Amino acid sequence: MKICRTIAECRSIVAGYRFAGETVGLVPTMGFLHDGHLALVACSETRVDRTVATIFVNPAQFGEAADLEAYPRDEERDFEMLRAAGVDCVLVPDVSEVYPAEDETIVETTRMANILHGQVRPGHFRGVTTVVARLFNFVQPDIACFGEKDYQQLQVVKKMTRDLAFPIEIIGVPTVREDDGLAMSSRNVRLGTKDRQAALVLSRSLNAADQAAAKGTTIEALHDVIKNIITAEPRATLRGLDIVAAGDLTEISGALTSPAAIMISVEFGGILLLDQRVVTP
Ligand code: AMP
Repeated sequence: MKICRTIAECRSIVAGYRFAGETVGLVPTMGFLHDGHLALVACSETRVDRTVATIFVNPAQFGEAADLEAYPRDEERDFEMLRAAGVDCVLVPDVSEVYPAEDETIVETTRMANILHGQVRPGHFRGVTTVVARLFNFVQPDIACFGEKDYQQLQVVKKMTRDLAFPIEIIGVPTVREDDGLAMSSRNVRLGTKDRQAALVLSRSLNAADQAAAKGTTIEALHDVIKNIITAEPRATLRGLDIVAAGDLTEISGALTSPAAIMISVEFGGILLLDQRVVTP
């Protein structure tokens, strides 16, 4: 596995793949990898000849400096995991190259970035699309894999890719979970034992909503199902609950008649966890 610290090194490796007629997949990450990230790698490997991963803790998508500082990092372990998973090349760019001094260019999906979770974290999705557009230009892959766990992020990236006509197929990968149902996240290690146990309310509430949806229900009733389960857990603070049309994230109400995306964000002592489920009637 090639480890590249500069865009130029990565471009020259990818040029070699292209010269050999090989297709290329991109797996963008912020590092501190777990099996969720490796599912993206595996997905890329089944579809293309060469997989390029990136590790970059993107300052532009963090609201608070403290959250950015606290983000866990372990580069050597990440490299070992990527190598074992068969990644061909990993780009670990320097922040000064991703965001050159006095840069002025941002990329924003103006509607999708500023609704739902985007209202809870202003500027977050603008930071995501700005870095993903840059990574797309650095690597110029054929496909890029993103997790469904960050459902709004996946839709925002799809929209940006379409609007800017990047010749890249965006692949959504189902959420990988711990045995007890907690969605894998780099933030999970920051949970204390009691919060880790309490965090099971996320998947439990989504399972209950899924069962209600299968029996026939309304959007309002689904809100109640989720809210009741989360608020019954004293350690949990519900920060965001959105139930919208799957795909375009538009508002829906009344009877559930088509697939709906449920997105929840729940805080445990300063740590925000996300989970998501698409439910169908
Ligand atoms: P992050 O390093 O948290 O920015 O995540 C990098 C990519 O991995 C994003 O596309 C995430 O949606 C995806 N991802 C994170 N956790 C999971 C998971 N548990 N299952 C599947 N994909 C995930």
